[in-house]
Amino acid sequence: MRRFRLFGLALLLPAALVVSAPVAGSEAALPAVTVIRAGTLIDGRTTRRDQVILIRGNRIESVSDASTAKIPAGAKLIDLSRATVLPGLIDCHTHIFLQGEIPSEGGYDAQLLKHGLAFRAARATVSARRALEQGFTTIRDVETEGAGYGDVGIKQAIEAGYIPGPRMFVVTRAISTTGGYPLEDYAPEIQVPKGVQIIDGPVEARKAAREQLDHGADWIKVYMTHRSWVDSAGNLVSQPTLTLEEIRAIVDETHAWGRKVACHAYNGTGLRRALDGGCDSIEHGLELDDAAVAQMLKQGTWYCPTMSVYYKEWAPPDTPAGRHDRKRAAVHGPSLQKAVKAGVKIAFGTDVGGFPWTEPIAQEFSRLTEFGMTPMAAIQSATVNAAEMLGMTGQLGAVAPGAYADVVAVAGDPLRDVAELARVFFVMKGGVVCRNDGM
Ligand SMILES: [Zn+2]
Repeated sequence: MRRFRLFGLALLLPAALVVSAPVAGSEAALPAVTVIRAGTLIDGRTTRRDQVILIRGNRIESVSDASTAKIPAGAKLIDLSRATVLPGLIDCHTHIFLQGEIPSEGGYDAQLLKHGLAFRAARATVSARRALEQGFTTIRDVETEGAGYGDVGIKQAIEAGYIPGPRMFVVTRAISTTGGYPLEDYAPEIQVPKGVQIIDGPVEARKAAREQLDHGADWIKVYMTHRSWVDSAGNLVSQPTLTLEEIRAIVDETHAWGRKVACHAYNGTGLRRALDGGCDSIEHGLELDDAAVAQMLKQGTWYCPTMSVYYKEWAPPDTPAGRHDRKRAAVHGPSLQKAVKAGVKIAFGTDVGGFPWTEPIAQEFSRLTEFGMTPMAAIQSATVNAAEMLGMTGQLGAVAPGAYADVVAVAGDPLRDVAELARVFFVMKGGVVCRNDGM
């Protein structure tokens, strides 16, 4: 049954999506020069009409007005003169090893208990391909949910050209404490796998960070809150996980390796410890109080809200679970508004994988504009700002000389309607056209 379902999903993918050649042969296989004629170019900072983007190999060499551009003889021409061209998009919060948490398919637990690693890896390749075909040429994949270091392997296979997929920044296993992550609610006599690496105490925390960094983690992901519920006064409450000493040990170790720490945190004590511990990005941040916003501004902490996922699959309204679902969504919007108003740095993230990869990733753009961001600011959160968070300013999230030639196009104007970004029809990654459905 499940095999057929997977096959059905594969059939939905566009035939035009191509695998880039393995690295060793790619230089020779690429045309010397490709030229894109862009009707409108949103380069991550400004909007310009009638531009010519000159690409040599996997990088952008120049961007100039069509009226003055010199097009080298023999260049391959791509005509996007009736389209809006943007940098390849960046989703900073994905889970390629998670396939939604659909109850009829056994929810989260079945993926850890019944799906072997090869099966999960095969599905992760489909997830990676889904991201790329939708114009997300870079992702920060924030943990494998019990699939170990599988993200490192998928990243290697993409980089070597064996499978199509985005550039990946990976965190491997993620870290939480005893009582701080599923699987749970099984008989205490039964040993079940956990979706993260469990640590207790600063020594174990530092050791887990070292192990993960040693095995290829680009970032370290830490769960600073876990269970949450609505208390008798109607407030959202979340259970803190790591102590300040534990998160400090992880941040200290990770920063010494020149890498960064992403903290899942809803609100309250766990959020405060994440910030006091010096984390680099707050994931979800459902309920940011004024003190948290002030501290994020002071410390330069990134905010990666994930709105859409909290609007899905609500339990009935008159149940504790239903009230909890609605409360999480209800506090998230105002937190984003508060952060936008204060000028907190915001990076685009969706938590896709938490919802099925068959859904459009770009649905998040509409939520961002619904809660206070301009369309341009929302686009920047998924381009220039995301690149800055990833330490890739000028390399990713930009259509500019020196940047990787990661370019997407849509037919309409995303500055009028950001929902247009769910209809990407052209995708180039590193100078290789991965999708071109025409207009
Ligand atoms: Zn997540």
